[in-house]
Parts: sequence; C-alpha cells; structure tokens
Amino acid sequence: MVNEQDFYRLALQVHGIDRQQLQCVEEMAELTKELIKNTNRRFDNLDAIIEEIADVEIMLAQLKMHYNIETEVAESKQKKFIRVMPYLQQEKAAG
Ligand SMILES: [Mg+2]
Repeated sequence: MVNEQDFYRLALQVHGIDRQQLQCVEEMAELTKELIKNTNRRFDNLDAIIEEIADVEIMLAQLKMHYNIETEVAESKQKKFIRVMPYLQQEKAAG
C-alpha cells in the first residue's frame, strides 16, 4: 500500500508545481469528456469515469499540498454546504 501523502510529495518534487497544475487541467478535461459522453451520448462508461475522478482527485490533492490549503479548502466547502443546504431541503420538501 502506497501512502497517499508520500506519493503526492514525491510527485511534486519530481515534476514541479507548474507541470502538475497543467496535468491537473488535463485530467479535469478528461473527466469532463467522460461525463459529457455519459450524459449526452448515453455511453456506459462508468469505469472511465471512476478512473478520471481518481486522476482529478490525485491532482487536486497535490495542489492542496503544494499551497498548503487543505484546511482552507475544507472550510470553503463547509461554507458552501451551509449556504446551499436550506435550498436543497426546501426543494426536497417541495417534491
Ligand atoms: Mg486521466
């Protein structure tokens, strides 16, 4: 089993942040393509979606590590959850 934090640290050391940021953009584009295929063309491509989500999560984790913003990102997510949750609950109640 590979330790995730060790992997991200080594990838950043070997490739550098500029290359990893570009790789992140590429991986997000690949995920975008698979999601569009699934929705627009009704492709049965769940395996590809799983792979691309993993790729994107790996790249995002490296960006968070590089900028040391794990806590800030988690806080930002919580603020969004708190802001949007009442709307979602209202929509659910409305059926
Ligand atoms: Mg990929």
